[in-house]
Amino acid sequence: MGAPLTISVAVVGGGPAGLFAAERLAQSGCAVTVYEKMPSVGRKFLMAGRGGLNLTHAEDFEAFAGRYGAAAGWARPMLEAFTPADLRSWAEGLGQPTFVGSSGRVFPKAMKASPLLRAWLARLAALGVTVRTRTTWLGWDAAGALRFATPDGEITERPDATVLALGGASWPKLGSDGAWAAWVGDVAPFRPANMGFDTAWSPVMQGFAGQPLKGIALSFAGRTVRGEAMVARYGLEGGAIYALSAPLRDAIEAEGSATVTLDLRPDMSVGALTARLSQGRGAASLSNHLRKALKLTPVETNLLREAHGRNLPAEPGALARAIKAAPIRLTGAQGLARAISSAGGVRLGAVDERLMLRARPGVFVAGEMVDWEAPTGGYLLQATFATAAWAARGVLAWTSRQA
Ligand SMILES: Cc1cc2nc3c(=O)[nH]c(=O)nc-3n(C[C@H](O)[C@H](O)[C@H](O)COP(=O)(O)OP(=O)(O)OC[C@H]3O[C@@H](n4cnc5c(N)ncnc54)[C@H](O)[C@@H]3O)c2cc1C
Repeated sequence: MGAPLTISVAVVGGGPAGLFAAERLAQSGCAVTVYEKMPSVGRKFLMAGRGGLNLTHAEDFEAFAGRYGAAAGWARPMLEAFTPADLRSWAEGLGQPTFVGSSGRVFPKAMKASPLLRAWLARLAALGVTVRTRTTWLGWDAAGALRFATPDGEITERPDATVLALGGASWPKLGSDGAWAAWVGDVAPFRPANMGFDTAWSPVMQGFAGQPLKGIALSFAGRTVRGEAMVARYGLEGGAIYALSAPLRDAIEAEGSATVTLDLRPDMSVGALTARLSQGRGAASLSNHLRKALKLTPVETNLLREAHGRNLPAEPGALARAIKAAPIRLTGAQGLARAISSAGGVRLGAVDERLMLRARPGVFVAGEMVDWEAPTGGYLLQATFATAAWAARGVLAWTSRQA
């Protein structure tokens, strides 16, 4: 009996999805080459690290699995097979212990991606994974071989199986530009996800750009999100608005604008706020009164004026209601260039239950290039890793059947 043949796998795209699929496949004995168009791998992963690298979320699994909207049912078996706990122990195995931060978000203690990526690349090298950078996938030739542009000219490869992990289409300057959609086929158009929204701030409010609105609640279309937002010159950005970005984006596309309701003091009832505001204002200006009675910051007071008009009600009850429900009319969404992630990508119906393209046997997909979307909070990276693990498993199942 001869030695078993080694399965060769091309992983196209060196983001977290590609690197994790490569790791799993190499651990199973495959000969893996990662092809990456940029001069180095993991650029968006490193960018995510600038915000602390929110790897996953510690909330109850049912709540977690529900975060993927229309793709929740599709993603569930993959999230069950590679859970948030699995992702945490994987990071731990690379010398990066994690902790649960505010509102259940999970971060590496180092609060950055670079040490994790360094240890990860060392592990991949030890597993024999080859990484070819500056190598851009151009699609398939007529015979079905993978075509790549390299600094030394075009090459073709014929691996036993392929994992495409090309990312979505946000922040294209980091590498994932969605150009592959032209030749992969059956791809839903890319749209920004987890992005900021435009509003017509006055010049005074624009002067508060970069200032946070902490501990607020935002409501839209029956959903309320607690968290933080940031005033930008163009409008609002930050976690709380990102969490509502999918319904807001859809409403603006359909109706031209959407009005989000901001509660500046979600922990206090209208009654409690009224009681505080009723205690002697004396000769204080309204902004001083709001600062003393409720610790409203200048950006918060100005936001109330933007929402309700310069002359805020003096009557405590009406003022309390204004603080609990400031309407902000959003007129546009920021584009893909600065969105945290993108919606769209390879349609769920274009892949089988192993994440293999129905139209291309032996070609699997993983990560953000598939048409699912999720809010920030660690859900993006968790699904990126879980789909990569699933695609790797699919490759092993498929190649063993072909042998
Ligand atoms: C500013 C920012 C902050 C973020 N913070 C977080 C966070 O804290 N938590 C979280 O969960 N998520 C976060 N994300 C999202 C997260 O980084 C992505 O969801 C994740 O990187 C997707 O992984 P991926 O491997 O699918 O795609 P990518 O990371 O985009 O990797 C795809 C790779 O494919 C390469 N590629 C593309 N086309 C080709 C081609 N034709 N040939 C060869 N290579 C190609 C690209 O260069 C890229 O390296 C953040 C994103 C941004 C932009």
